[in-house]
Amino acid sequence: MSENKDQKFVYDFTEGNRDLKDLLGGKGANLAEMTNLGLPVPPGFTITTEACKVYLASGEAPAALRDEVSAHLAALEAKMGKKLGQSDDPLLVSVRSGAKFSMPGMMDTVLNIGLSDESVVGLAAQAGNERFAWDSYRRLIQMFGKTVLGVEGELFEEALDEAKAAKKVTVDTDLDAADLKKLVTRFKKIVAKQAGREFPQDAREQLDLAVEAVFNSWNTDRAKLYRRQERIPSDLGTAVNICSMVFGNLGPDSGTGVAFTRDPASGHAGVYGDYLQNAQGEDVVAGIRNTVPLADLEAIDKTSYDQLMTIMTTLETHYKDLCDIEFTIERGQLWMLQTRVGKRTAGAAFRIATQLVDQGLIDEAEALQRVNGAQLAQLMFPRFDEGATTTLLGRGIAASPGAAVGKAVFDSYTAVKWSRSGEKVILIRRETNPDDLDGMIAAEGILTSRGGKTSHAAVVARGMGKTCVCGAEDLEVDTKRRRMTVGGAVIEEGDVVSIDGSTGKVYLGEVPVVPSPVVEYFEGRMHAGADDADELVAAVHRIMAYADRVRRLRVRANADNAEDALRARRFGAQGIGLCRTEHMFLGERRELVEHLILADTDKEREEALSALLPLQKKDFVELFEAMDGLPVTVRLLDPPLHEFLPDITELSVRVALAEARKDANENDLRLLQAVHKLHEQNPMLGLRGVRLGLVIPGLFAMQVRAIAEAAAERKNAKGDPRAEIMVPLVGTVQELEIVREEADAVIAEVEAATGTSLKLTIGTMIELPRAALTAGQIAEAAQFFSFGTNDLTQTVWGFSRDDVEASFFTAYLEKGIFGVSPFETIDKDGVGSLVRSAVQAGRATRPDLKLGVCGEHGGDPESVHFFHEVGLDYVSCSPFRIPVARLEAGRAAAEAKGSDSR
Ligand code: ADP
Ligand code: MG
Ligand code: MG
Repeated sequence: MSENKDQKFVYDFTEGNRDLKDLLGGKGANLAEMTNLGLPVPPGFTITTEACKVYLASGEAPAALRDEVSAHLAALEAKMGKKLGQSDDPLLVSVRSGAKFSMPGMMDTVLNIGLSDESVVGLAAQAGNERFAWDSYRRLIQMFGKTVLGVEGELFEEALDEAKAAKKVTVDTDLDAADLKKLVTRFKKIVAKQAGREFPQDAREQLDLAVEAVFNSWNTDRAKLYRRQERIPSDLGTAVNICSMVFGNLGPDSGTGVAFTRDPASGHAGVYGDYLQNAQGEDVVAGIRNTVPLADLEAIDKTSYDQLMTIMTTLETHYKDLCDIEFTIERGQLWMLQTRVGKRTAGAAFRIATQLVDQGLIDEAEALQRVNGAQLAQLMFPRFDEGATTTLLGRGIAASPGAAVGKAVFDSYTAVKWSRSGEKVILIRRETNPDDLDGMIAAEGILTSRGGKTSHAAVVARGMGKTCVCGAEDLEVDTKRRRMTVGGAVIEEGDVVSIDGSTGKVYLGEVPVVPSPVVEYFEGRMHAGADDADELVAAVHRIMAYADRVRRLRVRANADNAEDALRARRFGAQGIGLCRTEHMFLGERRELVEHLILADTDKEREEALSALLPLQKKDFVELFEAMDGLPVTVRLLDPPLHEFLPDITELSVRVALAEARKDANENDLRLLQAVHKLHEQNPMLGLRGVRLGLVIPGLFAMQVRAIAEAAAERKNAKGDPRAEIMVPLVGTVQELEIVREEADAVIAEVEAATGTSLKLTIGTMIELPRAALTAGQIAEAAQFFSFGTNDLTQTVWGFSRDDVEASFFTAYLEKGIFGVSPFETIDKDGVGSLVRSAVQAGRATRPDLKLGVCGEHGGDPESVHFFHEVGLDYVSCSPFRIPVARLEAGRAAAEAKGSDSR
């Protein structure tokens, strides 16, 4: 990083604004914005992220920084009428970190910089309050010692506790000036011993050391890990805010608080926040004393309260959103210390967005950007009845949403055994590993006492869509004795527990579950227009309607039967993007498939196929009827044939036993031979997809005939079938050409026989790297492409999904190799770039080539934006994800429009 001569490294709060988050960080930009709104912000200035970048690159602060800080400090001192650390009347400041994105793991704020053995006496005299001065000084040494000099924070806490114990008091406010003076001496000793240096008495040295510590905190291990996981670039750097101190610890007429401009849970207007008298900084959230609800401030200090209410309205109108706020009252004078657009629950996000539209603060396009698919997905899970009385056992990390109830089991074996006999179970482990997989599949939900959002339990549960709470550290799990203890309670195997994967809460007993009102709405069982309509449902309806108006991407469903198709339609599907035909080969039809595989002669094979034909046809008739007027993409058989045969081990045992009894069954013997013949080392890369169609004569022809006859039947019944035939796992255009020739002939035959014109289209999946790389050639034979991003991800990465997700993905996520599994969100740089180039090559060959995606990524918010951007025509996903895809497709279109006009 080179220094630019005219570069300015320090901005006064009056010089910045909220759009300068890159340069001033979020906190600094918003402090400047509030200053310029004329709100009471203690004066100060911000050192830019650019200065931090220079420091991180070169190990030294930019040469110009020191003088710039001196100049801004001098201006601040002039404004305040006192000098930093001045002995008879010291100016004190806070040094606060603040990056563009708020980041846990960064340096804590240091308050009261400028106090020393000398100036503490001056401060006491000025304030006429000795206790206050010494309280401020001990806080400085504590915070500075911990965050700047790296002293173990516990040591200060212990000393403070001992001081309280010696005096037989429980709260810090009961310590008087003399006690605090002694504590300061003690704290200074701790610093000298632990840090190997005295606590610095020079105010400017304190300031400079604190600034440097903030710079360095950008690169703590925790901060680095957080950035990797959240995909925050590592070169942004942090800004440093220097803010003149205001004091909430001057007595009962002072205090500090936090507030929201409206309820972050419901979105409703009202007074939400906490206040603590005679306190400083984090006291209000640290739980050291009991806070009072913000509404109580009205009785404590009506003037400040009224002013705060006015300011909150100003902020909301200005930011056009819910804001959260930090404030301090110093002897009846209100000061604003921070604001930002506040976090909110999923439901509140929808409600607030439409409330703001109604208030005329934002338009519908903006409302759409204020919500997202992840929030909508959360609202679609069934949830625990809020009215129910519950016994909360503890709380962990909300790792995979949903509400699950079941009997506690502590090992996989029991989970499987109990669930087989019809019990619902919750698998409880300290942490899970690949051996627990069966139990996880069998359980309603998974609860662990260790591990975070990327632990094995969390990753695998999310992959399975199973409710999971992990890292509930209050729970003492004893797998040997099959029980867990929490607080005083003991939960034995078989006791019922309820876990909420959306909040991380764990309850004793069965909490009643209610269906999501949002799903009731999508199902058509609840109407958004009704007079008594749920406010949330009305908000969702309104935003969805807008998303549907603006989106370009169409949304289809992955559905294999009429029931799923009908539900998908209710949820807004505009067709089926993937109908898998393999289920049509299971159940009672399995025997027919066996005949097909065992057939020795053409005749036997043809018999088997013609027995399957009417069954397949019936399935398609139902499906085309359910999706009448909308496209239905039917994929020809994809999985390897051995999947339809009995398990090799089971069958071998059966045959061996029979042989021992000398009554071997002819059929079983042939079957076993076939199983051996079809056995593959790596079925995923073996005889499947189009390869089956080319090797087993008549198989694909039978499927095409079933589709064509079904379509003809619907046509003759005055329906409007729109079938599309999709060939899986094509790697080269020659494969597709052969299949197409055969299919075209079959279709022509059916058309002639039924006197219909079917207009069936034939296309292919693009799910192998070679297909993507030769998409230009493949488009010559394909009328449409559907990107099979599941297999494409497997083959591009060389990952076998079932194997890797359960084994080493946790390690990969923890090491930050990717922030999210490439099976959840499309890997834009790798898999995505193949999709992008295949789109271009395909369209170059065939401009009207229809393009879609049918992997699970079709329902993933971030991936939907990518598919919009590369120009696909539609995404296809499971019926339940359709609303999410509709919403995100709308957001992607609105976002792209916004950036065009900007
Ligand atoms: P965080 O990013 O953790 O919120 P802050 O920089 O906002 O850290 O500061 C921590 C606490 O100290 C907050 O409660 C904040 O309001 C308070 N604080 C920060 N600067 C000052 C100041 N100049 N005067 C009084 N309190 C302050
Ligand atoms: Mg803060
Ligand atoms: Mg596939």
